[in-house]
Amino acid sequence: AAVAGGDGADSNIRVVLRVRPPIKRELAKGDGTCVQVLGSQAVRVAPQLSSAAAAPAAGGTEPHMFSFDHVAGESADQECIFQEAGSLIVDNCLAGYNGCIFAYGQTGSGKTFTMMGTEEGGGAGGRADASRGLIQRVFEDLFGRLAKGRGAKYVLECSFLEIYNETINDLIEPSRSNLQVRESAEGPFVPGLSIHAVQRVEDVVALLRTGQANRRVAETNTNERSSRSHSVFTCWLQSKTVDASGSPTTRRARLHLVDLAGSERQKASGAQGERLKEATAINSSLSVLGNVIMRLADRQQGRARHIPYRDSRLTYLLQDSLGGNSKTCLVANVSPAPVNLGETLSTLRFADQAK
Ligand code: ADP
Ligand code: MG
Repeated sequence: AAVAGGDGADSNIRVVLRVRPPIKRELAKGDGTCVQVLGSQAVRVAPQLSSAAAAPAAGGTEPHMFSFDHVAGESADQECIFQEAGSLIVDNCLAGYNGCIFAYGQTGSGKTFTMMGTEEGGGAGGRADASRGLIQRVFEDLFGRLAKGRGAKYVLECSFLEIYNETINDLIEPSRSNLQVRESAEGPFVPGLSIHAVQRVEDVVALLRTGQANRRVAETNTNERSSRSHSVFTCWLQSKTVDASGSPTTRRARLHLVDLAGSERQKASGAQGERLKEATAINSSLSVLGNVIMRLADRQQGRARHIPYRDSRLTYLLQDSLGGNSKTCLVANVSPAPVNLGETLSTLRFADQAK
């Protein structure tokens, strides 16, 4: 049957909201916050929640309430985000199911911090660095658990690409650019993309660093490129286990860890050339992602809907890791600053539709 809904209590899409702490610049302005975390699953958004001195905003003062699978306030650390957003996806990956983790939000909301940690990538990959990000923690967990699985043999391979203006470029070997997505029996793949075997967490950290550095090089050509492109870190896990009776099982799973382009509405009006192309590409690819996730959520409630995977490079590439038995986690990142209220509300609405 086309309808995949009703297969159990667990939803295949988990939505985690992360409200980052105010950064120095915002603290210096002393504007307070417009986001109030109410326990571990709810949030209230209204202009000037904590700044008594500020004049009431003109209009739109109604508070908005939202609830999610988990709400992480500004004191939530990187380990907490891993527990809420990464751990379940690792469980499923080891069980042979594909998964995706997305960081969504406006530029400056904390997507890259969530996925990668601090700019340096987390203290030379050292486990002592508390700021190391979700991707590194996913692999620490994965390698740790694979090492415990006695008698199991596994192969882990990774790639790192960006989608910029609907064009796919290899972030590890940047000479490989303008790549295409093809379909194969094993799912979508990108011919020409470099694939790297990894044996330990340090190998993953090295790939992340190389990719981030190449992303920054590209940035000098196009201003703020990293906020206008999606980066996709993919891992293929193949594991062979032998059970007590001696019969072997091979499991294959794919994991995509995605730092999305900034969700702020890109103004196409007045833009020309590259800027116009960028604006159009970002707006449409994030809205296709929203449609895909929303329709998958509808499907779970028993409504059969066409899923428009083919409408963007990103969803086309990820199609066999979204829906079906795959698990998806959306980490919606927001800033607490009142100046960002509009974008924060739009991120919350996007996340709300994914539930
Ligand atoms: P984005 O990738 O969404 O544009 P960044 O991850 O670059 O945003 O975050 C913007 C700034 O805020 C960076 O200086 C980052 O270090 C800081 N930041 C983001 N989230 C947090 C957090 N949870 N705790 C502390 N600093 C954060
Ligand atoms: Mg970023």
